Amino acid sequence: MGNHFNRLTGRAAAIARSADLDHLWGEAERGNDHRATLDFMRETDTSPVDLVTRRYPAICILKPFNTCPQICAYCQPNWEIDQVMDPCALADTQQLNQALDWIADHPSIQEVLITGEDPLGMTDDLLRPILQRLAAIPHVGVVRLGTRVPATLPMRLTPAFSSMLGSFRVPGRREICLVTHLQHPYEITPDLVDAVERIRRQGIGVYNQLVFNFYVSRRFEGARLRLLLRRVGIDPYYTFVPKGKEETVAYRVPLARILQERREEARLLPGLCRTDEPVFNLPALGKNHIRAIQDRDSIGIHSDGSRIYEFHPWEKNILDRGSYVGRDVPLLEYLQRLAGIGEDPSEYAGIWYYY
Ligand code: SF4
Repeated sequence: MGNHFNRLTGRAAAIARSADLDHLWGEAERGNDHRATLDFMRETDTSPVDLVTRRYPAICILKPFNTCPQICAYCQPNWEIDQVMDPCALADTQQLNQALDWIADHPSIQEVLITGEDPLGMTDDLLRPILQRLAAIPHVGVVRLGTRVPATLPMRLTPAFSSMLGSFRVPGRREICLVTHLQHPYEITPDLVDAVERIRRQGIGVYNQLVFNFYVSRRFEGARLRLLLRRVGIDPYYTFVPKGKEETVAYRVPLARILQERREEARLLPGLCRTDEPVFNLPALGKNHIRAIQDRDSIGIHSDGSRIYEFHPWEKNILDRGSYVGRDVPLLEYLQRLAGIGEDPSEYAGIWYYY
């Protein structure tokens, strides 16, 4: 294996022997093999009770509805998604009450993200009692709903739904937010603009999470999306690195391209358009900020340009974790794929300088 690396530290060599680096990403430090489990992100490790995931001290995820109008290969909990709009996707009442009781019993939880898959697949009558229960918990100051319906089904954001959501907002006491997932400028449709406007008129902030996958990674596509989001009144929030699961291989983009996009494209935008933070959600570790160089070390580089990174855990008072080591997407392969869809690789030449 040593022949494959131009530069590899002694520590990285030890890790490389224990992790099969021909496969992208693996949790080498603990000798765990993520391929042995479908739960790639180790959500079950941070689930104190059914339907709840807690990765950070003050925030938890509540998952009352286990499907979505579309199914993405790179979705975090894709291993447990039910069929599209499966009638059994709704959590049973007892489970849901136990999850809400857990939140009520934990005053350190200040923010609840209702997601799962897409909670707006539920009717207003099903969502309302969940929001009422959360509104009755004094320590929950922010409720977020994660949804892609502004793109998949914008007419779901009806005037009645918007005002129901707005009725739970109490300035200074409880904030309600919608976090959506728009991938491309083509998704900013007139229906979406109207739907988002209905929500914003209720004083509800709308934020976007972009999954920076191969198909939206061409020069200035992300920049154009951010400009349009700003005009609609959606704040760019996160830009996610697609996770290293096997089923996402065709979607993955080297970290170097994300760094290049920030420096050479996003940086040219007005400040209010580039408010998103690029992050890599790592198994068991949670979000690693790509621009925070202290959060990872580049410990090797392969002749095809793929970097070997070691991502460091940071103390979250939840679980003790080791670091995460893996080999990134080869830059050469990425540039060849871009050429295959008509891009000129010379326009991306600076990518080799990013780590
Ligand atoms: S739209 Fe979002 S919630 Fe639905 S499958 Fe895709 S990533 Fe998952």
